[in-house]
Amino acid sequence: SVPLGYFGGIGGASRHGILIKGANYLEALTEISTVVFDKTGTLTEGVFQVVEITPAKGYTERELLEIAARAEAHSPHPIAKSIREKYGKDVKVSDLTGLLSYEEVSGQGIRAHLNGKTVLVGKAGLLEQSGIFLPRLALDRGLGTVVYISVDGDYAGQLTISDRVKSDSRVAIDRLNQMGIRTVMLTGDNQAVAKAVAEELALSEYHSDLMPEDKVSWLEKLSQTKLQGKVAFVGDGLNDAPVLTRADVGIAMGGLGSDAAIEAADVVIMEDQPSKILDAIHIARYTKKLIW
Ligand code: ADP
Ligand code: MG
Repeated sequence: SVPLGYFGGIGGASRHGILIKGANYLEALTEISTVVFDKTGTLTEGVFQVVEITPAKGYTERELLEIAARAEAHSPHPIAKSIREKYGKDVKVSDLTGLLSYEEVSGQGIRAHLNGKTVLVGKAGLLEQSGIFLPRLALDRGLGTVVYISVDGDYAGQLTISDRVKSDSRVAIDRLNQMGIRTVMLTGDNQAVAKAVAEELALSEYHSDLMPEDKVSWLEKLSQTKLQGKVAFVGDGLNDAPVLTRADVGIAMGGLGSDAAIEAADVVIMEDQPSKILDAIHIARYTKKLIW
């Protein structure tokens, strides 16, 4: 049974924009020894900008951008938004005609059928899985996330897209490090980008190039290697609902987060500020002290 005093803690948290879905999660928050973060939209702004357009022979920059923008016409992913924005700020999704059908490959990119042609837009693995050879031009430069494009099985070019670390992430990671809580980042993005973010934030550990299902197995591995205490996962919700469900405490950031993530989460942070996790932990610890 749960002491009644916990309900006061839940009320207090809600006044700080933190929704805790049950007294058991308040208790669990006091025992966190590892916080695992998703990268895009969680530690970073998730506001991308196309900084480089590199078409293959036979395409102009404009043509490459148009193919990518049409394929990404309906995707809610921040990468897709940045590509549409670069193509034209005033171009409405409904104006990107010629798209027959598309499929979002979770954590990898888009497979679209455009004017009778199969177009892939996404990470290297998505295209290589289909046997497409890619010149790895920008991969190790760490300039940003590289999005590869192919048309009917042939490489058509690549876009480099950059994101920014949230200044609030730095505050959150510093405080967690000071408290002796292990901080880990799991990302589907490439090694160069992951390393740059991990170093900028002084994270204890990071793992890159992950598929959504790899994030689940990493979370399980981290839960087994923890010395004691609970493991929290913090995500923005785009394709990380499975990991949110698996963590001892699944924390979703409500601002950018999807309905699916808010549903799957145990704790919802209304604003996109990672430092709110510290507030949640402090409120939980304070409440526990009052009760015992
Ligand atoms: P993270 O793990 O950092 O939160 P995601 O799981 O959202 O990132 O995506 C992982 C990678 O998959 C991205 O870095 C990008 O390379 C690729 N990707 C995902 N969705 C798309 C998309 N709609 N268009 C292009 N690339 C995408
Ligand atoms: Mg994500």
